[in-house]
Amino acid sequence: MNKIAQIFETLEYGPAPESPQPALDWLASHGGKFGHYIDGKWTAPGKTFASENPANGKVLAQVTDGTADDVEQAVKAARAAFEGWSALSGYERGKYLYAIARAVQKHSRLFAVLETLDNGKPIRESRDVDIPLVARHFYHHAGWAQHRDRVFPGMVPYGVCGQIIPWNFPLLMLSWKIAPALAAGNTVILKPAEYTSLTALLFAEICDRIGLPKGVVNIVTGEGATGEAMVGHPGIDKIAFTGSTEVGKAIRSATAGTGKGLSLELGGKSPYIVFEDADLDSAIEGLVDAIWFNQGQVCCAGSRLLVQESIEERFLAKLRQRMSKLRVGDPLDKAVDIGALVAQVQVERVRDLVKKGVAEGGELYEPDIDLPKGGGCFLRPMLITDVSPANTVVSEEIFGPVLVEMSFRTPDEAVELANNTRYGLAATLWSENVNLALDIAPRLKAGVVWINGTNQFDAAVGFGGYRESGFGREGGREGMAVYMKQAWEKALKPTAPAKVQKATGTANPLDRAAGAADPIDRTAKMYVGGKQARPDSGYSRQILGPDGRSIGEVGEGNRKDIRNAVEAARKALGWGTTSAHARAQILFFLAENLDYRRKEFADRLRTQTGATAVAADREVAAAVERLFAFGGWADKYDGAVHNPPTRAIAAAMVEPLGVMGIVAPADLPLLGSVALLAPALAMGNTLVLVPSEPHPLSVTDLYQVLETSDVPAGVVNIVTGDAVSLGKVIAEHDGIDALWFCGSAEASTMVEKASIGNLKQTFTTRGLNYDFADREKFEGDYLLARATQVKNIWVPYGA
Ligand code: NDP
Repeated sequence: MNKIAQIFETLEYGPAPESPQPALDWLASHGGKFGHYIDGKWTAPGKTFASENPANGKVLAQVTDGTADDVEQAVKAARAAFEGWSALSGYERGKYLYAIARAVQKHSRLFAVLETLDNGKPIRESRDVDIPLVARHFYHHAGWAQHRDRVFPGMVPYGVCGQIIPWNFPLLMLSWKIAPALAAGNTVILKPAEYTSLTALLFAEICDRIGLPKGVVNIVTGEGATGEAMVGHPGIDKIAFTGSTEVGKAIRSATAGTGKGLSLELGGKSPYIVFEDADLDSAIEGLVDAIWFNQGQVCCAGSRLLVQESIEERFLAKLRQRMSKLRVGDPLDKAVDIGALVAQVQVERVRDLVKKGVAEGGELYEPDIDLPKGGGCFLRPMLITDVSPANTVVSEEIFGPVLVEMSFRTPDEAVELANNTRYGLAATLWSENVNLALDIAPRLKAGVVWINGTNQFDAAVGFGGYRESGFGREGGREGMAVYMKQAWEKALKPTAPAKVQKATGTANPLDRAAGAADPIDRTAKMYVGGKQARPDSGYSRQILGPDGRSIGEVGEGNRKDIRNAVEAARKALGWGTTSAHARAQILFFLAENLDYRRKEFADRLRTQTGATAVAADREVAAAVERLFAFGGWADKYDGAVHNPPTRAIAAAMVEPLGVMGIVAPADLPLLGSVALLAPALAMGNTLVLVPSEPHPLSVTDLYQVLETSDVPAGVVNIVTGDAVSLGKVIAEHDGIDALWFCGSAEASTMVEKASIGNLKQTFTTRGLNYDFADREKFEGDYLLARATQVKNIWVPYGA
């Protein structure tokens, strides 16, 4: 029987190989050896390492290991190119991006084959997913270049961007980074991952061919140390990183206090939830895409399967059956489902984690399917059942073709299990009940939620994580925003440190307060969980007036007070799901009640700072106005509906960050706190607020206004004391999701470094002259954007 007749007989797939030759020819045209692409030229290769084909271990090319000096040259080139590039009109920049998109399309097969050779992913994926999305990103961002100033008035590019990408989607991650950066007017230095540099080098050639001005895109190849040199280089204004959470944290720490822009797209352990009313066959096909797409080496892989108990047995039987039909093989074969993992170390890492999973009691299913003969980094698809949330394989990102499964009984339990992770990148849910699906999606702590679908991506739809999956978005409007800053931010100057009258050492803590003519003592307590609270320390600190005399005492807050405040704030997180209208009403009411006591608050300001009656009255009036302004914003700063080119909509929902810590500025005792508290509350966050250290009495008075304005207990918690040490406690506390810190450059560096435990988002003033009284700057979306994160919920339509 001939081969075709045999195939008809067995209905097996025949081999459908794609030729590697054009890609090998391209590599040969460079002599199989590459330098960097800097300032529009190829450098001579330096010390090199081999880039191998993981499907057969053959060396594809030698790639240069970038040194600190190479990074220096690239920074110089990018800096020199910035002025000209950023001065081009949006239309001119857009035309270059458009030309890149066209060139990627024209050479799409070459890119796809080279990507598959270098990375091991099936050609079906590089050809049909990666490369078309790359082109789509450049087209989409060509439009952003032209409309930047209309959509982002007052914003300017950072300057030189350092971009570091991983090996799982080499060209796609490159496009997610380079397209928005160039559209915004930045110049870039990109470092591909050491395993997969080749398509980035082909991309450099494309840039050359379309005549992109020299120095606008620089590709420096290398290992982790090359990336580290970029992160530490003072000439780089922004770092964009995709990779492991561990390296993401190291980068957060290294950039602390530098004022560099930072966006991090990190790991995940994304839940894939199947409800009993799901279309099970579709959910199985979705699952194949969720966990075996790119051999499971996907940051948003649906690697934690959660199945409703009533259908668990049936669903797992179908799944095992489907797994036994998956085809693992030569990535260049068009009929292969699972290709090679990127490198042998990754294979070993996955095997070790699976061993651990089994040792901890997990039951492993690995179908008896053939692996390609002759080696290569291949693994069969795997499923581990009988696991619990504490197991390593359930909590750790495996980054391989391994699915873990657990069951749940009720939708609430599904949400609880889904959110029981330090990550928050993506989530998938399957249900034919639209009410259930749309109830669950907003409750999942993830930057992307797919309903009845999975692993969908588009340039117009933001992608990025919550929690330890990082911050910042790629794609869409939010993705553009992370490559720009306000023009006025670039002009901020260091401010002279506020003159603080310290009681310690000079005043006797037992001195009677100056207002002591009043026979009834008025003690400013802290405010936690809607109740006045005494400090845990049992100490009070004297608050001095402008003449250095004591005008009152406040509690000396400590770690325990912050812990209590965080607990109260977490209990009050329902504030975030209160209707925006209700939050607006409460902020208006707060403004009304503050206005009612305007004179009293103005007097308090005068006693604390010596401000004139007019200035004090102005500050209170400004605080009232600010509360009004953000009451107005509460139901207006909202999301969008995107139309990706599939039969789906993506609802971009603006969500609060959760519990925010705010350390208010020393000056503007009332307005300084209100200017930060109002946008955070308007967006649904709950707060732990440390008021002005030298002048806290305006805010300790505020709790009475909060109480009379229907602000629910625990939504605002006030802890007084030493701003820097309380700021540190807040930064280190994993129950706090974000920190706004007003203080010196050193203290800002310290809190940014201390924030890496749960990668909380930080906004710090770094000793610069932020003027929160400025309505132009701070009554708009500047702080609203920093008080929120966007979740994109993909909903398919059509029967
Ligand atoms: P890394 O996070 O180490 O690498 C990502 C990129 O950062 C690479 O270009 C890497 O260079 C570079 N890099 C490494 N160390 C530093 C540093 N200190 N400073 C600056 N840049 C640095 O991921 P790995 O490739 O090592 O993969 C390890 C694990 O990370 C995987 O098994 C997987 O679990 C996870 N991962 C997650 C990804 C995601 O998208 N969420 C993507 C990739 C990996 P080089 O390649 O030369 O080391």
